[in-house]
Amino acid sequence: MARVFNFSAGPSCLPEDVLKECAAEMLDYQGSGQSVMEMSHRSKNYEPIIQDAEAMVRKLMNVPDNYKVLFVQGGGSTQFAMVAQNLGIKNKKAAYIETGVWAKKAAAEAKHLGIDVDIIASSKDKNYSYIPKVEKITGDYDYAYICFNNTIMGTHYEYIPDTGNIPLVADISSCVLSEPLDVTKFGLLFAGAQKNLAPAGVTLVIIREDLIPEVDACLPGTPTMLAYKTHADNGSMYNTPPCYTIYVLDKVLHWIEKNGGAEGMLKRNKEKADYLYNYLDNNEGNFYHATAEVGSRSLMNVPFLTKYSDHAADDEVAAAKEKEINDAFVKAASAAGLVNLKGHRLVGGMRASIYNAMTLEGVKALVEFMKDFAKKN
Ligand SMILES: *Cc1c(COP(=O)(O)O)cnc(C)c1O
Repeated sequence: MARVFNFSAGPSCLPEDVLKECAAEMLDYQGSGQSVMEMSHRSKNYEPIIQDAEAMVRKLMNVPDNYKVLFVQGGGSTQFAMVAQNLGIKNKKAAYIETGVWAKKAAAEAKHLGIDVDIIASSKDKNYSYIPKVEKITGDYDYAYICFNNTIMGTHYEYIPDTGNIPLVADISSCVLSEPLDVTKFGLLFAGAQKNLAPAGVTLVIIREDLIPEVDACLPGTPTMLAYKTHADNGSMYNTPPCYTIYVLDKVLHWIEKNGGAEGMLKRNKEKADYLYNYLDNNEGNFYHATAEVGSRSLMNVPFLTKYSDHAADDEVAAAKEKEINDAFVKAASAAGLVNLKGHRLVGGMRASIYNAMTLEGVKALVEFMKDFAKKN
């Protein structure tokens, strides 16, 4: 068996110990004679799993009692709508900070649903390579919205905007449990699981109870399934939950706990990210450089370009050369067991996603490969 180092932005690598446990329990979960995939979500075998997953989220993220922890479906993208439909109900007005694709999509969805969207800050001027500084948000907004870690641009907030009484909503899909986070600063947090928590299929929502409207108080036309109340009142079991994904999620949470919880993850992630950024910032002849600005850099997603990108924007020959180098890099890396390093088309170049489950060993192997590739090119 040859396992690769997987730098995919999502779905992404999972801790090997978790995969082994899942494999061992595949045919017979704890003497039940069934796989967790096959059992009723209302069975005595399954119910403790989802309950434990919730308890583990509460424990690892220090979730206060006045917050609900929900497991819903539809991915992060469905949250773009649910946030607007459930929170944008009073003044139908919301503030968004535009830091890249996911923040833009969220704002567009709110607009689509009739919310008066104010883009109060944007880093568009520099291709979203930094996080704008917005210390304080005021106004008659129903909520303020940020994307805390920008998976594509490789940027991350190093501060939390002060929104006073305005509920702050944050998309933490690609940084959930990568570091400690003060839940009390937010009205709502959500994370698609497939980046840092589990396989695709479940979305974690943490919402302050007083922000959950009755189903009928949501924006007109909101389906029952898209009201937080529906899931909050039914322990995330209004309908069939993504049972197996939640089972894996629970195992990942225990793995995080075993490895020091959110603090342990931060230490591990900083070590990995520092190692990679240090190389990117100091490599010989500046063959590579990171695209995200210092002070806004993600610990999870690290896009980088080569020197061949320098004139690619305004020179066709340079652009062709850049493409050739990027393709060669991705291909050779893959052959060396370092996979999914192709950059997002909006940034170009390469991107290494180094989520919780990525090891320092994997990052070191990447840097060794990069040194070798630079020498040859
Ligand atoms: C991946 C991602 C999304 C979209 O998630 P889906 O589950 O594919 O809908 C949203 N926000 C961020 C920050 C992401 O990284």
